[in-house]
Amino acid sequence: MIIIMLGAPASGKGTQSAVVAQKLGIPHISTGDIFRWNIANNTPIGAEAKKYIDKGLLVPDELTINILRDRIEMEDCKDGFVLDGYPRTINQQESLDKMLEDCGKSIDMAINLVVTDEEVVRRISGRRMCKCGKAYHIVTYPSKKPDICDLCNGELYTRKDDTVEVANTRLDTYKKQSEPIIGVYMEKGILVDIDGHNPQDKVSEDVLYEIHKYSSKQGVV
Ligand code: AMP
Repeated sequence: MIIIMLGAPASGKGTQSAVVAQKLGIPHISTGDIFRWNIANNTPIGAEAKKYIDKGLLVPDELTINILRDRIEMEDCKDGFVLDGYPRTINQQESLDKMLEDCGKSIDMAINLVVTDEEVVRRISGRRMCKCGKAYHIVTYPSKKPDICDLCNGELYTRKDDTVEVANTRLDTYKKQSEPIIGVYMEKGILVDIDGHNPQDKVSEDVLYEIHKYSSKQGVV
């Protein structure tokens, strides 16, 4: 299955993509994680991406599209994948359709995690991350031991772009450049809206329910 996880920054895309990927046994591909890996490892891609990420802007399409193409051409993606944070522009969306069409594939579902603007800013300003990918919130979803990951004992950190100022730019960027993609998938009849305000486990339950419903209809899983 090919699933796209849509939603504003901090709507839960990373968390829910990980749940779906694990459940279906397919890779979780996050372009944000790929860029952060490149930044941490001082690669030329990382140096270029950092200029935009730190300001809350999108990395240019050309670079992002190439990175995505290289990733989905890998062997582990042949039975499907969950895309988290891609596409973020109409240009990326169209090029993804073309890439898939060229190898006789198409997107099964686009899952849109719906949260209000106030919730986005509240979540971003309290978010703490672990390098294993697990996300926490200092008030609503704290780790059991302060600043230590419940899963891997790693030390939690705050993403450089998780400040209130950058959060507002990211939200603005999302509304102008990414939100229009929702309409495209709605017209294609593959969009499912999920209330992203609920607790993580309830959101996962709703997401997996929709995937199961789709799969039973298609005989995919
Ligand atoms: P994320 O981890 O998905 O919140 O992404 C963090 C940042 O990486 C974004 O704010 C963008 O600057 C950049 N980024 C991630 N995915 C994309 C994309 N598909 N297109 C452009 N920039 C991206």
